[in-house]
Amino acid sequence: MSTLALDLSGRVLAEHRLSLDAHDATVDEVVDRLARLVRHTIADLQDQAITPVGLTVGVAGLIDRVNDVLTHGPNLEWRDVPIGQMLRDRLDEEIPIAIDNEGNLAAIAEASPGDGDRQDILVIFGEIGVGGGIVAGGQLLRGRQGYAGEIGHITVQPGGRACGCGRQGCWETVCGLGALLDLAADPDDLVRNPALALEERLAELNRRADRGDARTVEALAAVGRWVGVGAAVLTNVLNPAAIVLSGYFAFVGHHMRPAIHAELQAGVLAPDAGGTKVELSRLGFGAAVRGGALSALEVVFNDPTCVRPRPTEGAVSS
Ligand SMILES: [Zn+2]
Repeated sequence: MSTLALDLSGRVLAEHRLSLDAHDATVDEVVDRLARLVRHTIADLQDQAITPVGLTVGVAGLIDRVNDVLTHGPNLEWRDVPIGQMLRDRLDEEIPIAIDNEGNLAAIAEASPGDGDRQDILVIFGEIGVGGGIVAGGQLLRGRQGYAGEIGHITVQPGGRACGCGRQGCWETVCGLGALLDLAADPDDLVRNPALALEERLAELNRRADRGDARTVEALAAVGRWVGVGAAVLTNVLNPAAIVLSGYFAFVGHHMRPAIHAELQAGVLAPDAGGTKVELSRLGFGAAVRGGALSALEVVFNDPTCVRPRPTEGAVSS
């Protein structure tokens, strides 16, 4: 769990992190921790005489943005959680709160201006689950009810592994972090130790792959092939300029790239895979939280008169 506050120029004003296994905690405990982290962040801003204009909370799952409710978080096993109201009840400050899907927020961050051709991109955000966001013509594609981008639950293997959503053979069952770790390591291997930071565990996998450890290399290639299978389906539909590999893929995706490219060449009808490039995010796990802060700032870009004049303005996101 992390928070990030940005000013209008994108400069980081405050940042907090907390390791938390949300599976072992109740909804109330998780929101309590989140509220504490947000209070620390707001206090940092107050110390700098900065007024936050908004707060966007990123969550993995289906979000009803009208009511600020998490409709379904398959990997958290949460249903109909009114996160927006729960957080409002725990904060003293009157601050506008929005809830969004973390894949969408990652896409907002990856599509930010100044980062090359990012007007038409598909962002694949990998954690235990796999989420994503589609930016088409510079706009995030949300769909009729806001549920677009649930790419992790495309069926790629009918009758395959059970998914957290209750179905079988969803894309995330073969290319989420769990699938990689199952292939790459025995249950007692340190790369599966949740007490270690995920970045360290992924760095260890990279070291093993770099020195040619056969099991690690094959696991990364196998997961890369599955990433490529789904990416080819989506590339036929969207023809993005780039597929941006974010979340855990940003750390180990360079070892998956040859397999992804091969599947794109094989599975996309357009010549040369429609010119779609495969790029690694430079934001990694930080993409979603950064996208949250950028999205909270959007209100100021849309209507600069909405805030009281102060020397600098900021936004927080978690
Ligand atoms: Zn699923």
